[in-house]
Formats: sequence, structure tokens, C-alpha cells
Amino acid sequence: MAAAETDREVPSALCSEFLDFSPRDTASKWSHASDFHRTVYQHLACYVPKIYCLGPNLNPQNEELLAQLLLLAPLEWYLCDEDPSAGLAKLEQSNQPSQLCGHVFKVGEPTYSCRECAADPTCVLCMQCFLGSVHKEHRYRMTTSGGGGFCDCGDTEAWKKGPYCQKHEPNISDTSQEDPLAHLSSDMIARTRSIFSIVLKYSVDMLTWEKEDELPSGLEPLERGDTYYCMLFNDEVHTYEQVIYTLQKAVNCTQKEAVSFATTVDRDGRKSVRYGDFQFCEQAKSVIVRNTSRQTKPLRVQVMHSSVVAHQCFALKALGWLSHVIGYSDALRRILCQVGLEKTLEGENSSLVDTLMLCDSKMWKGARNVYHQLLMSSLLMDLKYKKLFAIQFAKNYRRLQTDFMEDDHERVVSVTSLSVQLFTVPTVARMLIMEENLMTTIIRTFVDHLRHRDQRGRFQFERYTAQQAFKFRRVQSLIGDLKYVLISRPTEWSDKLREKFLEGFSAFLELLKCMQGMDPVVRQVGQHIEMEPEWEAAFTLQMKLTHIISMMQEWCASDEKVLVEAYKFSLAALTHCHGGFTDGEQPITLSMSGHSVDTIRYCVSQEKVSIHLPVSRLLAGLHVLLSKTEVAYRFPEQLPLSELSPPMLIEHPLRCLVLCAQVHAGMWRRNGFSLVNQIYYYHNVKCRVEMFDKDLIMLQAGASMMDPNHFLMIVLSRFELYHIFSSADYRKRYNRENANKDIIQQNNTLIEEMLHLIMMVVGERFAPGIGMVQSCDEIKREIIHQLCIRPMAHSELVKALPENENKETGMERVIDSVASFKKPGVTGRGLYELRPECAKQFNLYFHHYSRADQSKAEEAQRKLKRQNGEDSALPPPVLPPLCPLFASLVNLLQCDVLLAMLGTVLQWAVEPSGGHWSESMLQRVLHLIGMALLEEQQQLENSIEENDVGFNFTLKISRPGEAPSNTPSILALLETLQNAPHLEVHKDMIRWILKTVAAIKTMRERTTTAPETDAVGQSQEETVRDKDKAERKRKAEMARLRREKIMAQMSEMQRHFINENKELFQQSLEELEASTSASLEHSPTSPDTASVCVGPRRSRPSEKRLVVTCILCQEEQEVREDGRAMVLAAFVQRSTVMSKNRRRPSPNPERYDPLFMHPDLSFGTHTGSCGHIMHSHCWQRYFEAVQAKEQRRQQRLRVHTSYDVENGEFLCPLCECLSNTVIPLLPLTRGSKSSDHPGLGQWLGVIGQQVKALHSAHKKLKPVDAGAVDEADRTDESPPPDGFKPNYVPKDPYSSSIKEMLTTFGTATYKIGLKVHPNEQDPRVPIMCWTSCAYTIQSIERLLVDEEKPLFGSLPCRQDDCLQSLIRFSSACWTTSSLPSVQNHFIRLLAALVPDPQGESHPSILDVDMFHLLVSLVLSYSSVHCQDSSGLNVDSAQQHFLQVVTLAHVVQVLLTSIPAETTMDQETGAGSSEEEAAVCLLYGLLRRHLVSDLYEVTSGWHLWRCVKAGVLPYLRSAALFFHHLNGVPAPPELHAQGPGHWEHLCAYLGLPSNLLQLYSSYQDLMGPLCQGWCSHPGVRECLHGSGPLVSFPRESNRLIDLPDDYSALINQASSFTCPKSGGDKSRAPTLCLVCGTMLCSQSYCCQAELDGEDVGACTAHTFTCGSGVGIFLRVRESQVLFLAGKTKGCFYAPPYLDDYGETDQGLRRGNPLHLCRERYRKIQKLWRQHGITEEIGHAQEANQTLVGIDWQHL
Ligand SMILES: [Zn+2]
Ligand SMILES: [Zn+2]
Ligand SMILES: [Zn+2]
Ligand SMILES: [Zn+2]
Ligand SMILES: [Zn+2]
Ligand SMILES: [Zn+2]
Ligand SMILES: [Zn+2]
Repeated sequence: MAAAETDREVPSALCSEFLDFSPRDTASKWSHASDFHRTVYQHLACYVPKIYCLGPNLNPQNEELLAQLLLLAPLEWYLCDEDPSAGLAKLEQSNQPSQLCGHVFKVGEPTYSCRECAADPTCVLCMQCFLGSVHKEHRYRMTTSGGGGFCDCGDTEAWKKGPYCQKHEPNISDTSQEDPLAHLSSDMIARTRSIFSIVLKYSVDMLTWEKEDELPSGLEPLERGDTYYCMLFNDEVHTYEQVIYTLQKAVNCTQKEAVSFATTVDRDGRKSVRYGDFQFCEQAKSVIVRNTSRQTKPLRVQVMHSSVVAHQCFALKALGWLSHVIGYSDALRRILCQVGLEKTLEGENSSLVDTLMLCDSKMWKGARNVYHQLLMSSLLMDLKYKKLFAIQFAKNYRRLQTDFMEDDHERVVSVTSLSVQLFTVPTVARMLIMEENLMTTIIRTFVDHLRHRDQRGRFQFERYTAQQAFKFRRVQSLIGDLKYVLISRPTEWSDKLREKFLEGFSAFLELLKCMQGMDPVVRQVGQHIEMEPEWEAAFTLQMKLTHIISMMQEWCASDEKVLVEAYKFSLAALTHCHGGFTDGEQPITLSMSGHSVDTIRYCVSQEKVSIHLPVSRLLAGLHVLLSKTEVAYRFPEQLPLSELSPPMLIEHPLRCLVLCAQVHAGMWRRNGFSLVNQIYYYHNVKCRVEMFDKDLIMLQAGASMMDPNHFLMIVLSRFELYHIFSSADYRKRYNRENANKDIIQQNNTLIEEMLHLIMMVVGERFAPGIGMVQSCDEIKREIIHQLCIRPMAHSELVKALPENENKETGMERVIDSVASFKKPGVTGRGLYELRPECAKQFNLYFHHYSRADQSKAEEAQRKLKRQNGEDSALPPPVLPPLCPLFASLVNLLQCDVLLAMLGTVLQWAVEPSGGHWSESMLQRVLHLIGMALLEEQQQLENSIEENDVGFNFTLKISRPGEAPSNTPSILALLETLQNAPHLEVHKDMIRWILKTVAAIKTMRERTTTAPETDAVGQSQEETVRDKDKAERKRKAEMARLRREKIMAQMSEMQRHFINENKELFQQSLEELEASTSASLEHSPTSPDTASVCVGPRRSRPSEKRLVVTCILCQEEQEVREDGRAMVLAAFVQRSTVMSKNRRRPSPNPERYDPLFMHPDLSFGTHTGSCGHIMHSHCWQRYFEAVQAKEQRRQQRLRVHTSYDVENGEFLCPLCECLSNTVIPLLPLTRGSKSSDHPGLGQWLGVIGQQVKALHSAHKKLKPVDAGAVDEADRTDESPPPDGFKPNYVPKDPYSSSIKEMLTTFGTATYKIGLKVHPNEQDPRVPIMCWTSCAYTIQSIERLLVDEEKPLFGSLPCRQDDCLQSLIRFSSACWTTSSLPSVQNHFIRLLAALVPDPQGESHPSILDVDMFHLLVSLVLSYSSVHCQDSSGLNVDSAQQHFLQVVTLAHVVQVLLTSIPAETTMDQETGAGSSEEEAAVCLLYGLLRRHLVSDLYEVTSGWHLWRCVKAGVLPYLRSAALFFHHLNGVPAPPELHAQGPGHWEHLCAYLGLPSNLLQLYSSYQDLMGPLCQGWCSHPGVRECLHGSGPLVSFPRESNRLIDLPDDYSALINQASSFTCPKSGGDKSRAPTLCLVCGTMLCSQSYCCQAELDGEDVGACTAHTFTCGSGVGIFLRVRESQVLFLAGKTKGCFYAPPYLDDYGETDQGLRRGNPLHLCRERYRKIQKLWRQHGITEEIGHAQEANQTLVGIDWQHL
């Protein structure tokens, strides 16, 4: 077997044969062959198996080369009849490039569509074309392509405007109709034709070949070896994991190989997983089949002969070649089209293209993709052949769809997905409708695939199996096709089009008939339903069809003849559905207020009712359209209305609306959630247009054709309320009999719902055709009512408005007329606010309000009115007039039955009893009365002839009820109610009604009586108005007084509260004081002498007790060395925020020596704190409790928390800020007073002696090797200097609890900073503390510079407190370590500064960050000083350290940061100052030591400038350090930004402002030091080294620059390929915002191992780039991702906003996005502040679902 695998590398014997091969000779042999076809096949049969598939490991490069030479070159020679390079170039010259761009989209590539100009949303442009088009100035939409599909640039049918970009603009001289073949010789045409037809035939034969062991005739191989492939195919059933697992078992490969196999299978559709003899492959096959067949159908595996596979490989190659060759010439493309569509002898649909299509579902993915691409670059690019292809496609449509149903591939790789390319072309679509009856075909195919029906032929989706559900999903793509066909409406109709459209329309009605009445429900009484019935399928169908139904109506509307016919068809369909609509129900007669009507006995609450009535609703839609036609205005008698039976029309929609009302009333509770969901969707914006809205229209249509009294009685009867209103006595009986509260409540709700329905029937007039309005009025009204609830963002409004098939709401056209836009700030989003003048159009009973919307809107509007000083009545708005067909609807308002109902409710309100009455009922009655009054007023105002107004509501409500009941008139009842104390809320409304009644009466009188009364009336009116005004003013004044009173009360309450909680307030005040203690010290103690923070002249801080309060026990505590420890919650983290070298490999934590920080600051340890103070013992108790809780929780359920207790994390008990340790608070250490200040030279000597003494002392501690005592040591043994006692053990000043906390924090810093296990004995513990202290100071210094804030006084308290505690801690931490080890650190640190030729090796000054050195030196010196009793002062030591380190830094700056002289910024005029001379002197010295390595610079001015700039950050950091260490207040000048900063800074540090004096004043001491520094071999190495040289000042790191336009990023991501799986597109390209690396996230291919765990690319990257913390942009999602560690993460709003000030996370809306710099800066600031981890913690606390995400896999 092994032999079989290795044997067949490319046989070298063949190579010579290959070398002798001449394509030219072969081609000429072909042209002389008698049987051309056979000769070419022979050639292929001979060579293909010799080139392709020769072993288990394919060698694509070799194959490619040989295939080009042996197979393709002869084809090209034959085609051109000369050298192909010349021939093809000639062809290219005469090429007429297609006007179509035709760029095929890659997955994830950005596509653009124009909302204004695209014919439909499927018309898209590639980025190139878009940028060159007019649309980039329009309202465009941007999306990412799912792959497949191509750019529509140049397609005149795709764009209403600007179809060409600059590049594809056709030449005007072009006659595009010209036959492209005209330029070609007939010889050439013939050759091309024959070669194309053979190659295409060969490819089609091979790709559709199904035999595993044989080849088509003519291709049989000359020799046949026993060589097979075991080929694994892709399916959609098995998961990645299953395939990987099975492969490992079956072919015995590693997991990595299995992953790679699985990835290829998924991408290409198949992959050979084993190569060898038949037996060997067969065996693998059986294992795979056995392993995958348990639950599902097995994975498809075939054992194929290698020659078959070889030919299939070449077939794909050949198709690619065709694609390539036709790219040279439109003529060749045309010939290929002809060849492809040529019918063969086998008859219809037998062309090669037909064969391919019909075999589509049998091919593997890779083959399909290749031939689909060829179709796109050939047939779809040739406008003439596109039509012919479309016809073939339509002819095969039914079969292709049927195949697709059984195909287990996604639709994108099915040939059926090409429908979008064909059907969306309007002319093609119309042609297909007419010629191929496409509409009918699609609809019938669809109906045929939904087979489950009930006895009456309706769809039945109950008991749906998974497989049926799968099929149902597939079949929905047909609806998509239908949508494409309908998407552009015809502007002209031919008789043929009418005929075929109507044929399609009736087919569609057949479909709707199957839906009419499906999924009926019956009210459940007694028991709750046992199983929720399936309802989603039916609603999915409805939702999918919604746009189709709307489009059908729009098509009908565009032609009157079609409309009338369609109306008749629909009516017939409805009659068919409900022909005997009584369904055997009993006829009954209803009578009320002297009217009677015949109807049937039917109760929604007892019988079957369905929410699905698409036939009725389609008819309703057409009815409205008819109403808009001219016929309706002029000759309504010509409309087919006489056949209508209004009671039949309204019956089912009414039942549906009653069902909703009853559900609201709680009568259907036992039917479970499925019904609630259905009702929800019925009203939802996605469905309502073709459901609820149309039901309402149907009621309006019915009511307009009926006697209003009859209509209302039927409504009452269906609502099951007839008995309540029909007789006056009933209520009394009902009162007595029905004590059941539930029923009373139900009936109340039903009455409210019914009144609302009546309002809607009369008042909803904003659909064009019902009222006299434009379609934009309808949208305006929707928007107004949304904004009446509250101001909304653009996307919220879009969501609340129905979208058309183009996903447009039409909102842009009208929004500015009703709303004003308010821009967003750094957070939040832009909002639209209603224009005040639009508020009067507010209708409380707007039909699209949910109950919740309604009450929110009511509250908002009442509040608004009160603010404006108006009364709070919300009367109905004035309505537009109705269209003639609906005109009679107004009579509902004044009909007897309604008046009786209104009277009854008012009567109940007057005598409230029981609970048979509700305020909302009354509110609705008042609203209805208001509507009627406004109607009357309108009619009066508009009537031309006096007294012509038949609508006389005022008269009717003034009449009392007739005998015998003798009820009072409605008006009288209202007057009574006006003063009813229990109706305070409605008073304003009643007053408004009475006023309106009066006004109407005046109007009527005016029109009837003489004109002179007019004046009286007017003046009367005026006085009324004046009174009104005065009244309003008075109310406003009262409101103001009331407000003031409330404010006074509130502040009184506050005072009271403060008194009561005095303690608390005092505490917080003290806390404030404690934390601002530093800032209080700002005022310099004596203004005359400038304060100095370091050295012998340093100012002494005033003695001050520090008293703080524990946040846990609220006890006060003074901070003392010997007191109980107080601690700050703190968070220590590794950081690379300031790194200047992200490529430095992270050090081995076990052996790393952190004593010297490299100037590139590549890894640091940052400490932050929220500033909250606790007792150490209180904290310990708290933390133990957290631990215990965590243990309990883990036992119960395995959920994550936002913090990792095992790693010491906890949340601050007060502010929930993430913390992982605590810092102890320490008092200021007081330096000993001493006047002994040795000079630098003397001091250096003393230190040197001390170090020597320590050396020998340390040696003595070590076990001495007897006999081998170093000679040098003995001579070196000099007596220690005076007063220095190396054996003295100093007394530890700290209490045990403070000592414990010193250890706790030190160990935590060590553990986190080095990523090691805690070990408090490790000598590196104090080093890590000093380093963290220095690093934190430096990062804060940078932050202040970046934020342009002064050095002192601008930090938030928490940072100030944290810094102070951190520095004081660091100065004390040595006390917990072993003294010799700390002293040893000091000795090594000092050696780097004061080189000791005999000492150990130390780094050069270019490898040391000077600030870190300074901090470590100063802090470690304490360990030496404590043994010194000579009276030497710490202050002088600090001063000398500062001076020498500063000079070293100056030298460092001079060595690294001096660029070659530039003349441009040289100030030539200025005479050289003292500084300049001094710096030149020093630079000269350095150049003497390092001749060839430094530029020659003569300008002192230039050097001095560089030094100043380079040293400044160091000086600022040093100032912060000594300020907190020694507690000296900073001078006021350093509390402000500005000039003079330098001098004050130097003065505060006790340094000369001419820093060079440090050198020039001590030349004899400093000279040798400088020489020592320069002579270190490391300096030269560094200056010449390969590594990046750090120069000073170090710039602050920024996040990478992002492009302004988001699509640039999408484009960048779309061309990004996975770095590991060779050229594959990455699914989730993710950009690191810190370093700009693009990563392949969330994918198997790029997982990496980290600490023995597989993690995703992002997590792996965070550990190299951000030491565990990462900031990423997920490009496809437009989402920022924060990661910390392996388990923490959150999503964050991206810095990209659309024009409406909103982000688009998930890129769902597709509005153009632009960079918002403020928001990006905010993210950058968060990063620089080391706040990412904290932000994640807060996000996870706020949103628990974030905790469960496996962040490490991203
Ligand atoms: Zn394009
Ligand atoms: Zn273009
Ligand atoms: Zn446009
Ligand atoms: Zn406490
Ligand atoms: Zn806190
Ligand atoms: Zn990858
Ligand atoms: Zn990075």
C-alpha cells in the first residue's frame, strides 16, 4: 500500500517526452485530421491522466505548468492559427468591451445600491464603479456580498438614472447593435466554433459523469493502473466536528489533517481523503459510511478511478480556460454563447447549457461554482444571449426547482439562484411572462410543493416534520423569484401581457384560496390547551407573500382593464370560499331603535375562526384601488359592485377583529401563546398592511354600502354585546344576574374595543382611495404618531413603518416636514423631534397604536399641553374628506343605533354602579362625539349652499329620548357630567365638546339668520376667545406657583434628609477631603521661596493627620505606621500601552530579570484603583465571603462571573469596579533632619565605600569555600566608612497588619507582572513593585500630555490617591524582603549609573529607561541607608541620584535623538546662549568618544532644543514621583499649562534650568562617567544594531488610523485571506486597532495554542500584542470587540456613525458609515487609561449574557 502511495511521483521518463512536445505541431495535426473530434479526445485521453492526479499529494504547480504546455497551448494555437500571444492580442484589439461591468463579487466584498436610482434593491455596483458613478452623491445603501452575483454597472434597465460609471460609459459612436462577429474571418469563426464545442462538450461530459470506474467513449485511458481515490463529498447535514472525528478514525490522519480535509470539503464540495488501490479506498469508504449513518443519512463517499478524477480536474480547468479566452473578445464570447445554447439532435432543452443546468444538483460544489462563473461571464454578459438563456432557464424552471428541493446544498451554489440575474431585468421578465407564462409557472410550482391540505383544500401545517420544514424553507425561494418578476411594474400593457398576467393572477388566487381560513382556532374553555399548535409556518407564508400581494395590487392599479378583471376574479374567489357563508348557521333578526336586520347566529367565542383571510384582503385592496379610478368618480354604476353582498364581505374580517378584541379581554387565555403571537403579528408592522389594515378597509367598504344602523347591529351582535344595548331594561337585569366580576370586566373591555372599532371605521381615511389624500400623507401621519410617543432615532422610525418590496418606507420624502433632527453627542444617537405645529394632528385612537403606545402617547401629549399652558383635552383631529365610494361612512356617526349606544354609556357614567362601566369607555364615547361634531363643523364650513348640510349631529344630541323611556338628551347628560366630581380627568374634553356644540349652533344660526347678527356672533365669539385666553393665562400662573411651591418643599425635604443623615454626609465630605488632600496642599506654604520637592533644600510638608473611613464598616481610622492597615481596592494588569516595540518576544517568566526596564517599554505593569478605602480586615472578610459564594455557585451551576475569584479578582464593594488586589495606605515617611550635605564627589566616594562594605558583608553570609579564598577579596577588604554598620538589622516600623498588606500587594504585583505563581520570597518582588510604580507614573504623565492637562491638580481623585499610595507603598516594600537581596539590587542599579570596572556586567545606558532607574535607585537606597548612622541625609542621596540620572538621560537623548542637521528650523540670527554653548561642549565630548557614530551637529540651538524636548517627559514623571514621595506641594505654575513650565519644573526638582550645568559644573566627576557610559560596548551595538532605536521624547502610542469611509475597511477585509489556509476568504476578518493587524477570527483554521488550550486568532493575538488585552474591530459586524485574558470580553459601540447619528452593529441597515473622531478618541482614551478590562467588567455586570460567550474562540 505504501508502495502505491509513493510510486507515482511524476515519472521522469515522461519529462523528456514533455520537453519535446510542440503545441504548434499538435494544433496543425488537428487541423488536418479527418475526425477532429476524435483526434482531440485522443490527445486528452493520452495526456490528462499523465498530468493530473498522480498521487495522494497533488502538486498544483506542476499540474498547472504541464496542463498549460500540453493541453491548453495546442488549443490556443488551433484557435489562433498562429502564436497565441500574438493572436489573442489581435483579438483583443478589435474587442468591443461590454458596457456591463460584470464584476463577480467575492464573499464579504462591499456592494452599493442607490436608494434613489436602483430599479430594485438587487441592482448593485462594485466599489470601483460606485466611486465613479453619480450615485455616490445620492442616498445609497452599502452591504457586504454573500458571494456570487455581479456588478450591474452598465445595465440600463437596472438604473433609473446614471446607469454607467465613468469607466463603463459607452462611446457615443458605438453602435452596440452591431454583430460582434462582423470583424472575424469566417475561417476563424469556424475554428473557434469547433474548438469551443469540443472543449465545452468534453467539460460537460466529464462534470456530469456519474460512473466511478469508467470514462466516456473516446477518453478511455491507454493503460489502467489500480489507482483510486476515496472521495468525500460535502453535505449540509453533518457538522464540521462530525466530519473531523470520522476522518480521524477512517483514514487514520491527525486532527490537523482532518481539519484541513473538512475545510476543503466545505469549500470545494469534495476532497480525496485517501489514495491507493481499490481495496484500500473501499475500506476507508466503509468506515466513513458506517460512522456517519447512525442518526442521519451517511456522508457521501465514492471510490473513483484516478483517471476519472484527472479528467474531472481538467474539465474544470478547461472551463476556466474558456472563461479566460472569451475575455479577449466579444466575438469569441458570442460564439461560445451560440455553442452553449445550440440544440443537439436530442431535441428541446438538449443544449450543453441545458445539460449542465439539469445536472446541477448532482454536481459537487466546486464544479457548480466554476460553470456558474462561466455562465456569468458569457451568457449573462451578452445582452442578446441573456434573453435566449433566460428562455431556456424558464423552460427548465419547474425541473430545476424540483431538483433544488432534493439537493442538500445551499441556494447560493444552486443554478436556481441565477434567477435574480434574469428575472430582475424588466424586459426579460415581461418577455418570460408573455412567452413562457413564467408567473403561472412559478406559482403553480410553488403550490405543488406544498402538499399538506385539509378536507377543504386549505394548507395544513400541523404536525410538520423536520424534513417538511426544510422543504418549506426551500420552497420559499420561489416566492423570491416571483418577487423579482413583479418588481418592476409595466408602464405599457399589451393584450398579451394582460392575458398572461391575469392568468398568473388567477393562479395566485388559487394559492390564496388555499390560505383563506387556514389554521382556524376554537376558544378553549375549561382546560388549558395541551399543546401549542403550530402557527409559525402559516405566518411565515403570509409574511413572505405580503410584498407579493402588494405588488399584485400595484400591477392591477396600473391598468384599469386589468384592475376590473382582477376585481371580478377575486370576488368570484371569495364567493367560492364563502359561497354559503352562513355555513349552516341559524338566521336571526335583530332590532334596535326602530331598525331591524336579518343576519345569522354566530359567536366567535364558540365556533371556529381563522386569522388568515388573504382573499378577502386582496379584494379589499382592489376595492380601494377601484375607488381611486376615474370610473369610480364618474360612472360608479360601471363598476362590478352590484354583485357584492356587503354582509358577506364584512363577515370574516369582522370575526377576525372580534377575535382580537376577545383576546384583549382575556377570553382566550386558555388557548396559550400561539394565539397571542398570532394576534401580535396580525397587528405588527411586518404584516399589518395585508392583514389588519385590509380587514379594516373591508369593514369600511361594507359599511359604506349598508344602512349604518344595520351595520352597527351586526357589529354589536358579533361582539356579543347586542343584548346589553338592545333593551334599556337589560342592564338592570344584567346587574342583578351577572355578579361575576370576570364577565363584567370582559364586557367592559369588549365595549371599549367595539367603540374603538367604530372610530376606526369612520376615522381611518389616510389610505388614498378611502379619503382624499396622497400616499405621502399616510406616511406623514404614521411618523407624527410615532413621534407623539417620544423623539426617535432614524432606525426606530424605520422599524415602525412598513417597508415596501424595495425596503423603502418613503420616510425621507416627508420627514423634514414633520420633524426636526437633533444631532447626537459622544454617546447616544441622533433623534427626530416632532415639529410643534404637527401636534394638532395627534389622534389618541390612532389605529396602529398598541395599548402601551397609546397610553405613552397620551401621557406625553397631555404633559406637552400643560407645559404650553393649554387645557389637557385631546380632541380628535380634523379629518380629510372621504372619497365618493366611501362617503356614506360619516352617517355612522349620526345613526340612531350609535346615538342610542352613546346615550347608554353616558347614562351609565351619570349613575355609576357596580363596575359595569369604565372611564376608557366614556373617553371613547366623548371622542366619538367629538368626531361627529368636527364632521358637522367641517361640512358647514365647506358647504357652498346654505342649509345643504344633511349632517346634523347637534340637533340629534339635543333631543331627549322618546317615551316611554324618556331618557335625557346626550347634551343634557354631558352637561350633568361636566360637574361630576369623579370625572375630573375628562372635564377638559367635555368642556371642549360643549364649546364646539355652541360654536356649531352659532354657525348654523349665522347661516340661517340675517347677516347683521354675524357681528354679534363674532363679538360674542371674541369675548369667548378673550375669556379663554385669560383663563389659560390664569392657569399658567397657577401652574407656575404650584411648581415653585413644590420646589420649595423639595429643598426643605433635602435639608431634612441631610440633617437626618448627617453622619453619612460628613463621611463623604471627609472622604472628599482626604482624597483632595493633595490639591489642598497646592497653595504654596510661603509664596516667596519656590517649593522644591527633592534634595536638601526641599520644603517640609506640614504635619497632618490622615483620617479615612472604611466603606465596609463605616468606621473612621487614622492612617499610622503602627495602626490597623487601611487598603485601597486596586487592579494590577500587564500593559503594552506604551510599548515602542511590539515585536519583542515576551520573556520567559521564570528566568526573566526585570531589574532594568528597556527604553522601548515593551512590557509594563500598571496599577489602577477606584480609590475606595477599606480596613484590611474588613476587605479580607469581604473577599472570603466572595470566595465562599463562588464555590457554592460553582457547585450548583457552571456559570461564569464577570470576575475570576480563583485569580484573586473581586468587585469593589462600593462601585463594583473590577479589582484584583489592595494597596495599603501609608503615612508620609519623615526624613531625618540633618545638616550634613556632602557634595557630589564626596558622596560618590561614601556610596562607593558602602557598596564595597556590603559586598564583603554579603560574601561572609555565603558559605565560604575553604582554601579558595580570592586574593582580590582580601586586599579589597577595607573598613566600612564611619557610622555604617552592615550587620545592623533595622527595626521594622510597621504594624503586623500593614506588613501583611505590604506582602499581599507586593506578591500580587509580582504574580501578575511576571505571570508566575505567587512567591513572596522571590527577590524580584520589590523590583516588580518599583517597576510598576515607575510605569504607572509614566503612563499617567503621558495621559496628561495627551489630554492637554497640567501636570498637577487635574487628575481625578481616584488616580491621585492611587498614585500616592502606590509610591508610598513602593518606598516601603523593601521592608518585607530580605535586606541583602534588596541591597544587591541597589548595587547592580548603581553599577549601571556609576560603572564599576570590576563589577558584574551591567547594561549600557541605551538599554535602560532612566526614569525606571531613578525610581528603583531612590527606593532601593533605603535598604542601604537604614544601616547608615553617620548622619548622611536621604535628601542629598535623592538629589545626587536625580542629578546623575538626569545627566545620563541627557546623554541618552544626545546619543539617540539627534538627527542630521536640518537648516530649515535653525535660528541663524540668535547668538549662542549659555545652554547652547554647554550642550555643544558635551556633544563634542561624546563625539570624541564615539567618533564615527554621531552626526556632526554644530548648531547648539538645535541640540539644546532636542535635549529639552527629549528630557521633559522624564522630568515631569520625576516631579510626580518626588511630589508624592516627599509630600511637597507643587508650585501654582505647574497647576496650569503654559510657558515657563520648564523653569518651574526644574526649580521644583532642584535642578538648574540649564541642565547642562550638571555636566559643566562637575566636569571632573562627570567627564569620566560620560566616558564610562560611552565606552560600554552595548552603546555601539545599539547605535548600529538592527533593532529599532528608541529616541526621545517617546511619542504616545495611538490606535491605528481608520479611514473616514467605512466601506474602505470592508473592501480591505474582503481582500484579506486567511493566513493559514492558503488563499481562503476569512469569514470574520477582524482588525487589531492597536497594531493594525488583520486577523481571521472565530475560525478553526487560525486557532492557536495558548497555555495548552486552543484559542481563536484574536485571543492569541492579544497575548503578543497587548499582553492579554485587545481592542479589535470586527469588520463585517461593524462592532468593536474588547478582550481581556482568555475569558473576558465585551462588544462596544463602533466609532462609525451614519448620517442619522446611529451606529449599525451587524451592518443590517446599510446606511453609509463615517468615522466619528470623538468616539474613536474615546476608545483610545479608554485604552491609554488602562480602562479596557474595567469596561469589560462593567459591561458584563450589566449584561449577564456576555458572561456566557466563549470569548477565547474569537
Ligand atoms: Zn462594477
Ligand atoms: Zn462601471
Ligand atoms: Zn442614484
Ligand atoms: Zn472597616
Ligand atoms: Zn470602588
Ligand atoms: Zn483562518
Ligand atoms: Zn495588535
